[in-house]
Amino acid sequence: MSRELMSAVLEKIKEYDRIFIFRHIRPDGDCVGSSKGLCEILRLSFPEKDVRVVDWQKCDYLAFLDIEEESVDDSLYADALAVVVDTATSERISNQKYKLCREIVKIDHHIPVEDYGSINWVEEHSSSTCEMISRFYLEFKDQLKINERAATLIYTGMVTDSGRFRFRSVSGDTMRAAGAILEVGINTDRLYANLYIDDFDQLRFKAHVYNKMKITENGVAYIHVTSKMQERFALTAEKASASVSYMDSIRDSLIWIAFIDNSDGTIRVRLRSRFVTINDIAEKYRGGGHACASGATLLKKSEIRKLLDEADQKLKEYKESNEGWI
Ligand code: AMP
Repeated sequence: MSRELMSAVLEKIKEYDRIFIFRHIRPDGDCVGSSKGLCEILRLSFPEKDVRVVDWQKCDYLAFLDIEEESVDDSLYADALAVVVDTATSERISNQKYKLCREIVKIDHHIPVEDYGSINWVEEHSSSTCEMISRFYLEFKDQLKINERAATLIYTGMVTDSGRFRFRSVSGDTMRAAGAILEVGINTDRLYANLYIDDFDQLRFKAHVYNKMKITENGVAYIHVTSKMQERFALTAEKASASVSYMDSIRDSLIWIAFIDNSDGTIRVRLRSRFVTINDIAEKYRGGGHACASGATLLKKSEIRKLLDEADQKLKEYKESNEGWI
């Protein structure tokens, strides 16, 4: 099935002289890695084609990878193939001009909720979209080319979206594909330095999160990163959102949530869990995502308590009916 879909994607790419690559809002490692990595592979393999990532939203912690793309005239979209990576629903595509393209191909690893492409290659059990791109390259190695930059982009997405190869979505296939990509030649010292080193001020904010975080009766750890807090630590939205990952290893806490005030008065919710499925909770609050990593949006502060109560109840039920969690 996956081989057939990969072939269909490659054949579609061959049909077009212009390929525009799209991705989701607030790009993360997998999003940048898969869009730019695929772009690089296609540029190397089909130098006569016009291949570009047509999205300009930035991700600060990946600035070391993300080379600026030129702006694109609107008239160029009409005869382009849109390849949308790592984006479950069309409303989350950051550059909505994808609608101007002649045809759409979707490549994604989220739970499938919307088939917005004419080809939808979706593997919800893949650890990352970058893993899919790496397998795409490996499957058609005789026709596609790769270089160190493309390999680094793809490997970065595999590393970041799998929690450094820790999540349960990581399979033997993930590791075999990662191994093959690593062998292209990647400066892992530089990569990991870029991923792990934090600004001094960000560490101060981290300490503040540890001071202020709370835990519900059954073990949902949470923090509300208020506008005031964001001002005090001069946080960008991206830096504020990192707070969720600071709570990822608290004993007995199988769900952890960051509520982050947006400038428009809404509240961004980042939900994470170990063992427990939480995307159903996110879906009730205008969100979605993966079973153990989801996002949502709250319209008013009172919804925080409601969402926390639901998460707490869920965790209570999980603990009552499961053994062996830590
Ligand atoms: P985040 O906490 O924003 O990193 O999101 C975690 C996961 O949930 C990512 O895979 C997102 O694509 C997905 N996600 C976040 N927000 C939404 C949303 N509003 N609707 C659907 N999926 C979402």
